[in-house]
This record gives sequence, structure tokens and C-alpha cells, in this order.
Amino acid sequence: MDRIYFDHSATTQVLPEVLETMLPCFTKFYGNASEPHTPGNEAFELLLKSRDTIASVINAKPEEIIFTSGGTESDNLAIKGVAEAYKKKGNHIITSSIEHPAVGNTCKYLEKVGYDVTYIPVDKNGVVNPKDVENAINSKTTLISIMHANNVVGSIQPIEEIGEIAKKRGIIFHTDAVQSFGTLKIDIEKLNVDLLSMSSHKLHGPKGVGALYKRKRVKITPLMHGGEHERGKRAGTENIPGIVGFAKAVEIAISEIDEKAKKLKELREYLVKGVLEEIDDVIYLGHPENRLPGHVSFAIKYVEGESIVLGLDNKRVAISSGSACASMKLEPSHVLLAMGIAPEIAQGSIRISMGRGNTEEEVNYFLEVLPPIVKRLREMSPLYPGK
Ligand code: PLP
Repeated sequence: MDRIYFDHSATTQVLPEVLETMLPCFTKFYGNASEPHTPGNEAFELLLKSRDTIASVINAKPEEIIFTSGGTESDNLAIKGVAEAYKKKGNHIITSSIEHPAVGNTCKYLEKVGYDVTYIPVDKNGVVNPKDVENAINSKTTLISIMHANNVVGSIQPIEEIGEIAKKRGIIFHTDAVQSFGTLKIDIEKLNVDLLSMSSHKLHGPKGVGALYKRKRVKITPLMHGGEHERGKRAGTENIPGIVGFAKAVEIAISEIDEKAKKLKELREYLVKGVLEEIDDVIYLGHPENRLPGHVSFAIKYVEGESIVLGLDNKRVAISSGSACASMKLEPSHVLLAMGIAPEIAQGSIRISMGRGNTEEEVNYFLEVLPPIVKRLREMSPLYPGK
């Protein structure tokens, strides 16, 4: 069996069709899109077309798309950009306790420079309650930032309801849709969002490119100052190969979105059933239904998630653990702790994120190799009571 890749929430392989679309942008259409000559115009046309593609799939206007270097920059631009632009109106930001560090650490930075941030808790399934968001609003609140789908446990957040609250109260609403864009259908009007972060490498596009949707009337202060690229909101010569590849990947993802979701959901349920049947003392993490279709997360008691990752890697299977590497020490994920999982149990978390190419045969292989790895690790654990 070839190597099995079950880590699509971390990143994905660039599709051959995407690469093929990108290649001429390095050699033939290499012009600077800001220049008025033919090579410049050719690059500009590609930029326009890509912008149209991204805008149309989320029901936005092309001028509301700002190309960036990826999800992290989009999150930073949205949050710091709004915080700074509306500083005179207020200094309070609401976010959740389960955000990706691209949002969480941006908020922590803003706290250091004088902003107040409220971190909304989540329930045991890793879901924010919109009422808690509403209750946290005060006269100084300028921004709410709650992610669409969580990267660690896959739970989908009630974005529509939170967006409605934000709209009613006249507060700008940002969502980090890095994990969901290309996997879940997104309509910015239905979701009631003003800003939405996207990243190309999570949906079989190239790394180092992404976008921020910004509703026209929303003001943001740019992170980078320079030329008038991206309507003055993101200076720097546009990464045409990356942007063109991103748009192609989006086109493909949207064309197969329903079929892919159905297949991945079936694989997910099959995998979950198999693991829960084969291994004792396992907790299925995240919302059982309302979650990303190919995303599975477990806490396996009496083992370290990282050891399972390494054990599976030896068997040519790539998954990830829920631990974050901080100061050379493995810390349990802040997401799991926020869900009320005890630290020693959170240490045993793993994430299996399947994608378009994965098969039932691969899941069968995974179900065959995982139980002996867990058994061996538990036998070495002084905490395991079942010895
Ligand atoms: N937000 C979420 C939810 C993510 O999962 C990630 C990447 O893992 C990011 C933001 C960062 O995106 P990028 O890698 O494109 O900077």
C-alpha cells in the first residue's frame, strides 16, 4: 500500500490541473499586473479572472476580494485592520476560545497594545453559543471574530446566527473560513459576515496564497504600506501564479463539493465506527454530526497523541495530533481544554482529516494498524489500568 495521507486539515497536495494552470504564469504570463503594456495587461487579465472566480463562489463582488499570502495574513488583516480603523469608536473585540493561533495570537497581541478581548467559551462539542456572543457585546465592541469550522475538532459554528446578532447591533463580523472554504458551501449574505478568511493550500491549491473577503462598506487599515495594489489594502506585486492556481483549485473544489462531502461523510462514519468498536477508552471529539465531512478527532486515553502519530508514520499513514509544540514541550490543545477535556486526556488526541482521494481500502488499513499501536503504547504506560 502506498503512503496514506490523512492530514488534509494541515495541507493538501496541489492537483495536476492546478499546477498545469499555474506553469505558464511563471514563463509566459510573467508581467507585472500594474504595468500598462501587453505583458502587464495579460497578467492583469488573469488577476481579474481569478478574482471573479473567488468572488462568485461566495456570492461577493470582485472588488470585495483582497488577495493575501494565506489564511494567517487574511486573519491578521481582518482583525488588526478593523481594530485600528475603528479605534475611535471602541477597543473591544469578541472572539472564541477555540480559534486558530492566526486569530487567537492576533487578539493576544491586540490586548498587549491596549484592546480588550472577550474569549467566548464553547460547549463539550466545541461549539460557541450565539447567546454568549450577544451577552458579551458592549458599547465599545467593534469586531466579532468567530471561526467557521474548527481545525482541531471539526465542529461547525453557528455563523449565521452570530452574524445576525452582529448585524442587528451594527458590529463588524469576521469569520476564519480557512478549514471550510472549498468544503462547505459559503454564501456571505446567508452567513451574514463582513469579512471572511480563505487559504489556497487547504483545497489543493498552492501554498502562500489566500484571500480576504471584505464587505465594501467595512474599513480596514492595511498591514503593509506600499503601492496601491488590491485597492490600497495589500501592497505588493501580485503573486499571479499563486492566485491563478488558487482560483483553479477553487473552481475544482466547488464543482465537486456535494459529491465529495457525501463520500467523505461516509468514510468518516465508517472510520469512527471502526475505531470505537476496536479500541476501548476512546472519546469521539467534536460535534457528532455538524462537523467537517472528512474530519475525525479522538482522544485515546492512556497514550500520547504524538506517539500514535509516529507509530502510524512507521506504517506509512500520516495523521496529526491535537498537541501544539510550544517551547519544545508538547502542550495539550487549547481547543480541547476549552471543551472541558482534562489535560491528560487531551494529550491523547489525534486528528484524521480525509480528502478527495482517500478510499475505504485506506480506512480499512488504518483500522488494521491503529489498534496494535495503541495496545503497545498502553502496555508501556504506567497509567493504563487495563494491564
Ligand atoms: N485558520 C485556520 C482555521 C487554519 O486551520 C489555518 C491553517 O492551519 C490557518 C488559519 C492559517 O492558514 P495559512 O496556513 O494559510 O496561513
